[in-house]
Amino acid sequence: MKYISTRGKAPALNFEQVLLAGLASDGGLYVPESLPVFSKAEITDMAAMDYPELAQKIITPFVSDCIPSDDLAVIIKETYAEFRHGAVAPLVQLGSNQWVLELFHGPTLAFKDFALQLLGRLLDYVLEREHRKVVIMGATSGDTGSAAIEGCKRCKNIDIFILHPHGRVSDVQRRQMTTVQGSNIHNLAVEGNFDDCQSMVKASFIDKSFLPEDRSLVAVNSINWARIMAQIVYYFYAAVALGAPSRSVAFSVPTGNFGDIFAGYLASKMGLPIERLIIATNQNDVLHRVLTSGTYGRSTLEHSLSPSMDISVSSNFERLLFDLYQRDGAAIAKLMDDFENADITFSAEAMKGLKGLFSSARVDDEETCAQIAKTWAECEYLLDPHSAIGVKAAANAKLKPGTPVISLATAHPAKFPSAIEQAGVAQAPTLPLHLDDLFERTERFEVLANDLSSVQNFMAANLRA
Ligand SMILES: *Cc1c(COP(=O)(O)O)cnc(C)c1O
Repeated sequence: MKYISTRGKAPALNFEQVLLAGLASDGGLYVPESLPVFSKAEITDMAAMDYPELAQKIITPFVSDCIPSDDLAVIIKETYAEFRHGAVAPLVQLGSNQWVLELFHGPTLAFKDFALQLLGRLLDYVLEREHRKVVIMGATSGDTGSAAIEGCKRCKNIDIFILHPHGRVSDVQRRQMTTVQGSNIHNLAVEGNFDDCQSMVKASFIDKSFLPEDRSLVAVNSINWARIMAQIVYYFYAAVALGAPSRSVAFSVPTGNFGDIFAGYLASKMGLPIERLIIATNQNDVLHRVLTSGTYGRSTLEHSLSPSMDISVSSNFERLLFDLYQRDGAAIAKLMDDFENADITFSAEAMKGLKGLFSSARVDDEETCAQIAKTWAECEYLLDPHSAIGVKAAANAKLKPGTPVISLATAHPAKFPSAIEQAGVAQAPTLPLHLDDLFERTERFEVLANDLSSVQNFMAANLRA
């Protein structure tokens, strides 16, 4: 499988190269040159597979020229053995056609574990084979950092540095990062905000001269193709459990950077009958505005009860635009250039393509709390604020009667106890057993000044030999 850039100018890469690449050299994002398409019979057979078997089936075409099948099977088996549910991604029914797909049974209780547990193992596998070492650097306001650290903690060939804004992530989220022990793990608490952390990461990817020459820098944010790839699997898993391919289903996806729902789009292109993909946003509603007005425009970031969806632009949306513009890299490069300076309007044809499969909903904090309370009152089921946004959007969606709608539950409610409290639910969510003693564990993090050279000097001084 070859991977090409959405902006048409960067060289095509194979899977191993794309795994280690961040942005393409032309500023674009990598996508597969073509997609495997599964037949109706193949999709029917998927219903009999367990999660690791299905993951093997879906992922193989994307990686087979770089990773032999037996090795891939071991990597996948180890990855999903980390999840604390026999089904890995269980479905729970909330109403006659309403379902929730629980994606929070991984080590850090958010759906990001599905991709980052796999990514860490894939990276270590190719690095070991090539006798190379890399440095991972990332900024986090919560979920990504802990999932990346958990995913890479055993990796012999990776030193990982995660920046978070000092004093500005929740206690659970901070402790999930800072209590993981390992000489290759470094939590940097920067005396600034999330954007400061993000800018330092960006600057470090542009000028890597602070690192020794033999260490490259790898990105673990959702521009990394391998993350998207891993997420395609659970769309198939849930849909076949509810009767695909003879029945089509809809998905409602709490959306920030558009990585998760883009995987759903790929699943539909790969043959899965998906009637609709619902983009569920909080008050940071850049994508909802695209669907309703056709204009793509930045607005100022608002802090919400669903912090992992607080974004002003969705980086992975470019991957969809590439298809909506008939894979014309030059057109995407121009659009994105224009977008640097002003709001942009999409072509009628692109909007038609978008609306053919996607719809959207905006759910603010008040409605989020109301949904948490309603689902608790009706089902005694606790939703985290991100998942509640998906469930609310699903309940309001206009679908063909009888279509099952599956809301992705992207985080465990115990990660966001204050939102549950704010919703007026008396039942406090409890952490699963494996995190029971989280608040007794020893934390290890480094407080650093809000200054690029302090961060880079710390990194250079703390690489393993
Ligand atoms: C990251 C995250 C999201 C948003 O996913 P995207 O792929 O960025 O759209 C939603 N919910 C939770 C809990 C997350 O951690």
